Amino acid sequence: MSVQSELDDRVPEVYNKIITAEYKALLQKALLRECTRILQEIPPEREYPYWDVYVGFMIGPKTALKIAEEYIDSALASCHATHPSLPIDPSLPAHIENKCGFLRTAVGLYAIVAHVKHHVGDYETSNHSLHLLQTHFARSAFTPRTQSELLYGRAGLLYALKYTAPLFSSFSDNFKLPSNPVPSAESSHHSHRILRNNDKRPTTEYSSDKINQIISSIFDAIIENGSRTASDSGLSAKTPLIWKWHETFYLGAAHGAAGILTVLLSFPDKVCEYRDIIKRAIDFVLFETRGENGNWMSSLDRGKTDLVQFCHGAPGIAFLACRAYEVFKEARYLEIAAEAAMFVHDYGILRKGVGLCHGVSGNAYVFLILFKITNERKYLEWTVEFMDACLQWEQLTKEGQFRVPDRPWSVWEGLGGAVWYVFSVW
Ligand SMILES: [Zn+2]
Repeated sequence: MSVQSELDDRVPEVYNKIITAEYKALLQKALLRECTRILQEIPPEREYPYWDVYVGFMIGPKTALKIAEEYIDSALASCHATHPSLPIDPSLPAHIENKCGFLRTAVGLYAIVAHVKHHVGDYETSNHSLHLLQTHFARSAFTPRTQSELLYGRAGLLYALKYTAPLFSSFSDNFKLPSNPVPSAESSHHSHRILRNNDKRPTTEYSSDKINQIISSIFDAIIENGSRTASDSGLSAKTPLIWKWHETFYLGAAHGAAGILTVLLSFPDKVCEYRDIIKRAIDFVLFETRGENGNWMSSLDRGKTDLVQFCHGAPGIAFLACRAYEVFKEARYLEIAAEAAMFVHDYGILRKGVGLCHGVSGNAYVFLILFKITNERKYLEWTVEFMDACLQWEQLTKEGQFRVPDRPWSVWEGLGGAVWYVFSVW
């Protein structure tokens, strides 16, 4: 999301007063500096074991497509080295057959591959990625051991299908076999196998109707899982839907109900079908799981309210409340989103660094989204406040105010997240 592109017609005045030309020049410099730093620290050609969206590569806007493509190729090679049968076999290896989330499985990688390759004109690879999402991973969404959260579970696949839906609809137009496929080394190996697969595929397999059917079935599976879990756990009187991850009733955006429900709200037709139970489940998470300190619990089991990050606590709650407001247009959702945002503002400059998952940039997205909805000046001011912390990451790390994340250059744990954030504001 780029704030300016979303707001140009509506509120340029407020935006331009705070995000001035001078400030934009500063952000542009920062963007270049931090991207260069990441490219130096983990150059695309270097062997890098992390290929998933969470700890792995970064992709950029269209202007950085070429770099993104290099990272994508490198990530794909690394992913296929870990799962050699992935590009060709009709079934997934046993250890990942029940995993289909966006951030920590190959689903997110293939979804991004589909977009990047489509934009650079490599339709063969793009379409093959869509094929894998629709076949291999769609199957993995329905095993008894598959969970429903965002990182490893069904909500992640649902998100990936939504994200790639425009590509599915243009599949038939763009589908053509390469006349002279002679890529090199690793990519040659895979392209050859991809070519053989493509050769036999009927294009009707990729119709929008088929994708909508898959989306609908996954949506139903999430609802069924949530409803059964609520009933088996004796929680139905409180909420009609609740999900477990690793035997825990998580509530936040990464593994919990807030993340799952936020994704579900992106499918209006299906939301209509389950409107009552989805709304009651949202109300439970937003209004019944808040602790005395004003933050929301990480999980129902432990009741702890000490975490303020995308994955646990107020930020994920704010994302859900904003989405609920956009879908149901009820003021109480916007009010609770504002309360969560206030909490994020007061406690959200974390010592854990600048990544999206449990870092400053992930928290700051709450303000961007609320500004988009309300046009309120304070959200943009808070955005700038958190941006300052992000841009000082190196100094703050040296001073010991920021810890060094496990994967310090990645999008979800490290500097890559801050780069995304700078770009979103710029
Ligand atoms: Zn996290």
